[in-house]
Amino acid sequence: MTETTRTEYRTCPLCEATCGLEITLRDGAVTRIRGDRDDVFSRGFICPKGSTLKQLEADPNRLRTPLVRRNGKHVPATWDEAFAEIERRLRSIIDTHGPDAVAVYLGNPNVHSMSGPLYNRVFLRALRTKNIYSASTVDQMPKHVSAGLMFGHPDLIPVPDLDRTDYLLMLGANPYESNGSLATAPDWPGRMEAIMERGGRVVVVDPRRTRTAAAASEHLFIRPGTDALLLFAMVNVLFADGRVDPGNLADLVDGLDRLRSAAADFSPEAVADTVGIEAATIRRLAHELANAETAVVYGRIGTHTAEFGTIASWLVDALNLMTGNLDCPGGAMFPLAATEQPRSRRGFQLGRFTSRVHGLPEVRGELPIATLADEIMTPGDGRVRALVTIAGNPVLSTPHSDRLDAALADLDFMVSLDLYLNETSRHADVILPGTPPLQRPHYDFAFTQLSIRNVANFSPAILPAEYDNPEEWQVLLRLAAVCAGQGADADLNTFDDMVFGTVIARSIGSPDSRIHGRSPEDILNESTGERGPIRLLEFFVRTGPYGDAYGQDPDGLTLAALRSAPHGIDLGPLQPRLPEALATPDGRIDLAPAEILADVPRLAERASQHTNGTMTLVGRRDLRSNNSWMHNLEVLIKGKERCTLQIHPSDADRFGIESGGIAKIVSAAGSVAAPVDITESIMPGVVSLPHGWGHDLSGTRLDVAATRPGVNSNKLAPGATDPLSGNAVLNGIPVEVMPG
Ligand code: SF4
Repeated sequence: MTETTRTEYRTCPLCEATCGLEITLRDGAVTRIRGDRDDVFSRGFICPKGSTLKQLEADPNRLRTPLVRRNGKHVPATWDEAFAEIERRLRSIIDTHGPDAVAVYLGNPNVHSMSGPLYNRVFLRALRTKNIYSASTVDQMPKHVSAGLMFGHPDLIPVPDLDRTDYLLMLGANPYESNGSLATAPDWPGRMEAIMERGGRVVVVDPRRTRTAAAASEHLFIRPGTDALLLFAMVNVLFADGRVDPGNLADLVDGLDRLRSAAADFSPEAVADTVGIEAATIRRLAHELANAETAVVYGRIGTHTAEFGTIASWLVDALNLMTGNLDCPGGAMFPLAATEQPRSRRGFQLGRFTSRVHGLPEVRGELPIATLADEIMTPGDGRVRALVTIAGNPVLSTPHSDRLDAALADLDFMVSLDLYLNETSRHADVILPGTPPLQRPHYDFAFTQLSIRNVANFSPAILPAEYDNPEEWQVLLRLAAVCAGQGADADLNTFDDMVFGTVIARSIGSPDSRIHGRSPEDILNESTGERGPIRLLEFFVRTGPYGDAYGQDPDGLTLAALRSAPHGIDLGPLQPRLPEALATPDGRIDLAPAEILADVPRLAERASQHTNGTMTLVGRRDLRSNNSWMHNLEVLIKGKERCTLQIHPSDADRFGIESGGIAKIVSAAGSVAAPVDITESIMPGVVSLPHGWGHDLSGTRLDVAATRPGVNSNKLAPGATDPLSGNAVLNGIPVEVMPG
């Protein structure tokens, strides 16, 4: 038989960088994956994870059929058997205790698929539970909160215009390892280097001298958890030195005076000792920001996963605005995604309901993941009795994870939709296999909204579904049908038509829609015959800002145009979007939201609490690791030990810890023991462990990961949260360190 070779192009769905991949297949099997040199955005850039989609596809541990727990063991089952079990047990809990008795956890990979953003919503609406949790309260909710309060919508997030800026001040971000986050840009390293090559400066503020910091023009150590103090001191300097100039936005901003008052107590001298950066340096940073032709402050995970995450996130955008660098080329700009739909000017509210046990406020309809264990373990009306996890491993990836692990064992029923039988899904009564990336179509709904350049790439599935497994959107619809009382055997096509009909009706009913007033039949007749996410993608692209609005603009973007552009379509550099993009009720920017100002006294107390002499723990990223879920691929975990405790030589000396030995790390929540890496790249007084490890629990099916299990750093996080966003505090955890 003749071998057939073909080449396919698709966007890598593994992280936020959205690199284009060139995939070679022989006789239907993937033989090579490399960067797509013609991709309009990534131009051939790829990291070591991109090519491992091949190994992921072949991984024998990856689940291919549903598993149902029988007599304490997970055994293979048909989809009908699995759904019969789900219907029987989940319905009984909902009918007896109400929908809030069922919690849902959505892991990070949900935003890296088409089905997640589109069909999780259908499932959650059908379930009607208040107990929704996600990875957003592990690492990014502060950004949604500050964006929502300042600009009116939690997804209206400005991103650094890397390709045109002259000055980049970066806090708590390590894109040389993470490939960037909440700022989508393939080849962050190359773009950073280009800033310096064109005469600009990159300043990195981080408790670790990361690879990113080492490559920058300047690196400053900072004490973990004090970014908000540093940023406030810079705000203070700008006011004190008369350097506040919002530029074109001056007439659009409320709250400058309130911000000035709030910053009054945070002079550089007042915070310098606590932050660990000299007052003169803080002044210089503020002046550099104000003096640069174009400049941008960008804060990421280290600023967000801290006890003042929302204040820090807010001050990043406040500094950009105060120096005339918001909504300007080279500053922080708002992307315009091809699928963006008009936003109402309702504004943004927090705390529309609270969690049962600790009264923690909801944000974006979610409760903090740090409190899920409380909701399961605390008796009383409204207790969580069942859990559905979708593409998530909270036992490894969320705070106080030992406690959550124990709580999951207490549930009456649990369902997981996942690629693996992992540390979390081992608790599930039913596990439904997820669809691996190459077997599903792809479009980045989430990351085109955060992209430093407007682009659109559609990738069809390049491999057929294994064992005729349903696609993820069909699984989610089936779960929705169970929760809605339609039964596991409901007609999914009819259900999906209903979903699509609702989307059309909402759009034609909105005066801001590009198809306002059109007839639904018109739209339906012009739509692709395909059901599921592809039909919805077509709708959002055609009604989006570049779309053809179903024939109104014959040159506009369509799904067909995306299909015929396998390397993507470049929609150009970011453009100023204010005031039109604002979603606040008055159409203005609130530079000093009352909710955030109310939290400032808490920060003021912290300003005088020096932590000299005590040890604090921070996390870290690794280019070859993707949170918790890719450690079963030998090609990524081979080589040097990655899950090590980094400690400064002076601290190692102080605690009698030897190179190559084991250190015990103890916090208020628990303890772990990890191999030691003594390095001057970490600030004295700080230790670092990566997250996502700890693959030594029984009952999993992760043969490769189990050979290099590492330790779970989240055992050390006590479950504290940033009160405004509910985000977990994972950086700056007080710990003791000793020989293990
Ligand atoms: S940087 Fe991210 S998107 Fe690019 S190849 Fe690596 S994992 Fe994939």
